[in-house]
Amino acid sequence: MGGQTILLTVDVEDWFQVENFKQTIDFSDWEGCEWRFEKGTRVLLDLFAQCKVSATFFILGWNAERAPDLVREIQDRGHEVASHGFHHDLCSNLGQDDLLSDLKRTKEVLEHICGSSVQGYRAPSFSISDNVITALKQLGYQYDSSFDSSGLNSRHGKLDLSDFRKTGFAYTDPDGFSEIPVSNLQWGNSIIPWGGGGYFRLFPASIFNWGVRNILKANNGYVFYTHPWEFDPQQPRVNKASLSNRFRHYVNLGRTEQKLHSLIKSFDQENFMSCKDYLLSLSTVGSVVSPPNPIMSGDAVSKLSKPNESVETPSS
Ligand SMILES: [Zn+2]
Repeated sequence: MGGQTILLTVDVEDWFQVENFKQTIDFSDWEGCEWRFEKGTRVLLDLFAQCKVSATFFILGWNAERAPDLVREIQDRGHEVASHGFHHDLCSNLGQDDLLSDLKRTKEVLEHICGSSVQGYRAPSFSISDNVITALKQLGYQYDSSFDSSGLNSRHGKLDLSDFRKTGFAYTDPDGFSEIPVSNLQWGNSIIPWGGGGYFRLFPASIFNWGVRNILKANNGYVFYTHPWEFDPQQPRVNKASLSNRFRHYVNLGRTEQKLHSLIKSFDQENFMSCKDYLLSLSTVGSVVSPPNPIMSGDAVSKLSKPNESVETPSS
């Protein structure tokens, strides 16, 4: 098996659960909304089956409780089931006790459905922090995949990875807990979000794939994220949301499936695997430390995020 590694990740949440619509749709409205995440998730499962690739699905506990068959189907079709928290609350909005309770409940719900251990976590809207890592370790999670070094979105968190050792494109601490950052593109002195979401829908496939090729060259790996609602152009429209939030959420929804197919086919010589299997492959190969990585070098590694700026990026 040659090639570089691509980690496809899916944050399983519905159109009414995204951060961009939180001002418009209250949690108390969720039960009454039209649930469509199963449909969107199955579009992805079918696409992945067609392309013969494996992925990681970070699933909300609220959704897992309502669609346990979908969670089992994800696992049965060869993918990793992981946690996206219970209610999509930003970690930064939760006290440590509530955070622990959210992470614990989600892990238990998913493990009860799957009958196997859940190792991974992605924070809602990448709202990671050192405190979240501490909580994850306390609860037996093995890795997190929430760090975005671009620092372009005020919701995104910061991490101090100075005690972590870089192995492949993951970072592992002395206790064996790993962080798998979402990929960005280094362009001159700028770090451009290139991990998926709205940017993936906005840019033409040829440009996006060119960026991925550059990230693979620099990093020997690429971490992509998407959501089921990005594959559901028929979803209800939230007309009360702001114009900018509607643009970020709805831009090019009708083309996402075709673009992801193009991305996977463009890189079909590479190794697509789940986050869990990637970390396992690193430990099997035996801790080969990569050379300094331009995508995550210098400030991006030790301080991990510049002060937040005004540019908004789509929610995770
Ligand atoms: Zn999310």
